[in-house]
Amino acid sequence: MGLRPPCVIPRGLQTPRNRFRTALPGSKIIRMADSIKFRWLGTAGIELESNGERILIDPYLSRFPIQYNLFGRPVPNPGLVTRYLSPARAVLVSHAHFDHLADVPNVCREFGTVAYGSSNTCAILRAHDVPAEQVNPTRVGDAISLDPFEVRVFPGKHGRMAGLLPFAGKLPARLDPPLRLSDYRMDTIFSFHVRAAQTSCLIWNTPDTSAIPQADILFFCPLWGERIGAAVAEAAQVKVLVPVHWDDFFSSLDRPLHPMVVPPGWRSPWIRRMEPRAFARAVNTLLPEVRILIPEILKHNTM
Ligand SMILES: [Zn+2]
Repeated sequence: MGLRPPCVIPRGLQTPRNRFRTALPGSKIIRMADSIKFRWLGTAGIELESNGERILIDPYLSRFPIQYNLFGRPVPNPGLVTRYLSPARAVLVSHAHFDHLADVPNVCREFGTVAYGSSNTCAILRAHDVPAEQVNPTRVGDAISLDPFEVRVFPGKHGRMAGLLPFAGKLPARLDPPLRLSDYRMDTIFSFHVRAAQTSCLIWNTPDTSAIPQADILFFCPLWGERIGAAVAEAAQVKVLVPVHWDDFFSSLDRPLHPMVVPPGWRSPWIRRMEPRAFARAVNTLLPEVRILIPEILKHNTM
C-alpha cells in the first residue's frame, strides 16, 4: 500500500553527476553508478543497494502471530529469506527484539552475510550457531566500511509501553533456539547513518536530535509523532522522509498490509491504529519542503 508510485530521484537529491547521467539521450539502459536503491521489507526492515551490493537493516519477514508474544517458541522461516531477499554483504541490527533480529540468523546462514549488533544481538546470533566470523559486536561511535557503504553507528532510544521498556535487560542464562519472543531482550539500541553513491540515509531510532548527522533520506517510525518526525527531518536537513515500522508485523506477508495498533500508553491512553498518511500530512504541514514517501512493501525505490 502506498500513496505514490515508486519514486524517481527527486530533483533536490540530484547531484550534478547523476543529473547528467539521468539526462543522457538515446540510452536504453542508463547505469547510474552513483544511484542508491532501497526496499522497505515491512516492520523496520530496509534493504539498501548500491553498485550491485546490498546491506540490510533489521530484516523481519517471519512476522509471527501475536499469540507467540506470550506463548510458544516460533521457528523463523528460512524460506521467506530466500523468497524475498537477495544476497547481502552485511546486516545491521538496531536492537535485539524479535521484530528486528529473529530472521537474521537465517540471513547469515543463507547468504554468508556478516551481522553487526549489540552484545545481546551477538549472543543471540551465536546461540543460533551463526559462525563467530559473521558476528560483529558493535558500539555507538563505530564506523563500518562495507564498500560501497560507509556506516556510522549512533545511539537510539526505544519507546516505552505503559511506561516500561518491553523485553529489555539481561538475556536468559540459557538460550536454546527456537527462542520465546521474550528471550529476544534488548540492551543497546542503535541508529545508523549509511552513505553510498553520494547519497546518505539515516535510520534514526530516537527523538534526540542533538548529535544528528546530515542525510538525504530519513527512515523514521511515525510512533514518535509528527512534531518529532518534523524536528528530526529538519535537524538532519533531509529531502525525503520514509515512514517505517508502522505496519502490523503480527500479520504474515501473504495477507494485506495494515497499520499496527499503537501500543497502549505510547502517546495516548486509547487504542488506535497508526496512520502513516495522517503522519505524512502533518509532517508536511510543519515542513512542506520535505517529501514524504510512504513505501510499498518489498518494492524497489531508486534515489
Ligand atoms: Zn523494539
